[in-house]
Amino acid sequence: MTTLPSRGGYFGEFGGKYVPETLMAALDEFEAAYRRLRRDKAFRAELDDVLANFVGRPTPITEAKRFAELCGGFRLFLKREDLNHTGAHKINNAIGQAIIAKRMGKQRVIAETGAGQHGVATATACALLGLDCVVYMGEVDMARQELNVFRMRLLGAEVVPVSSGSRTLKDAINEAIRDWVTNVRTTHYIIGSVLGPHPYPMVVRDFQSIIGREALGQLRKKVNRLPDVAIACVGGGSNAIGLFYEMLKHETIRLIGVEAGGRSGELGHHAARFSGGAVGVLHGTRSMVLQDAFGQIAETHSISAGLDYPSIGPEHAHLQSTGRVEYHDCSDNLALEAFHKLSEMEGIIPALESSHALGWLLRNGKSIAKDAVVIANLSGRGDKDVPQIMAMEQPAQ
Ligand SMILES: *Cc1c(COP(=O)(O)O)cnc(C)c1O
Repeated sequence: MTTLPSRGGYFGEFGGKYVPETLMAALDEFEAAYRRLRRDKAFRAELDDVLANFVGRPTPITEAKRFAELCGGFRLFLKREDLNHTGAHKINNAIGQAIIAKRMGKQRVIAETGAGQHGVATATACALLGLDCVVYMGEVDMARQELNVFRMRLLGAEVVPVSSGSRTLKDAINEAIRDWVTNVRTTHYIIGSVLGPHPYPMVVRDFQSIIGREALGQLRKKVNRLPDVAIACVGGGSNAIGLFYEMLKHETIRLIGVEAGGRSGELGHHAARFSGGAVGVLHGTRSMVLQDAFGQIAETHSISAGLDYPSIGPEHAHLQSTGRVEYHDCSDNLALEAFHKLSEMEGIIPALESSHALGWLLRNGKSIAKDAVVIANLSGRGDKDVPQIMAMEQPAQ
């Protein structure tokens, strides 16, 4: 396997750095700092200590016997990223980048957030390390995710409402980029998924690859072999590449990414970039993008706020084009069904995002051999989704 990305930040024909001139130096500085620090003993020791004693790693794998019976009877293990501090995998990356920012001498951190999960993870990391934190968030998202806005403020972050465009995630990213261009000397921008210009997709992947590394070791102890199937939901793609990365070289492992199929296959009703998108550039990287006939970024929909970004990490676009990873969709309704089934049968309330991977298994698991070992990434816990589910199922009279 060749090492990806290439020097210019490309995964095959995807990736790169499509940014204004003023940001090129900052991206180079970040990449140089990262390449130096990842071999630095003191940095590794600090990161390992925080991951173990603050985040709570390693996260366990849990066998889901009753849910697996429903899916077709194979052995199913859940990688429990929901048990991380702040309730999802995002903290793995936020902590890593915040420590880099501090060591680069940048006292100010900015981030974008859609549902608020990456904002909360970043605000948490900044509180721990004593960094100033500013989070950009669309006004529509702020209204939908009041609790996370308040949580970020409790953690000492400033939340800046974004009122341009559709007032959601992509507009928040535009605002964060604008801030970064202005304050680049003092500020590091923490991107929350394997998106954006090089080196972000590489850095975020490396910080999240601990998920698959741990899972392979844990499966070796429990069943003494490699899994046959590994499956994860794909928004930007960080939890999925985190699970897959160490498994790519083991060609017997079937890797499955699940996108948000939403309400239907019509443009605007889903966030399935591979079945509905085309090659394009968004937020500094070349990848598959949902767009209309004029190349304008399309509206997206998913029941889960974490899966509705109109583009996908460039490494996933590459892995899809080579056929090493297969990508499928799971509809809102099927994800909701899996959300309830896992809660009732395993005592684990999953994030709606993670429920997309579980929903695919529920519908398609019969095609997987009964003696197969499957690992599914439980990217986050569902507590954040409970108010939304409650409003849907018990509407106010
Ligand atoms: C943000 C989020 C996702 C989607 O992001 P990826 O970068 O695709 O992992 C998935 N699950 C949870 C719980 C999230 O918070």
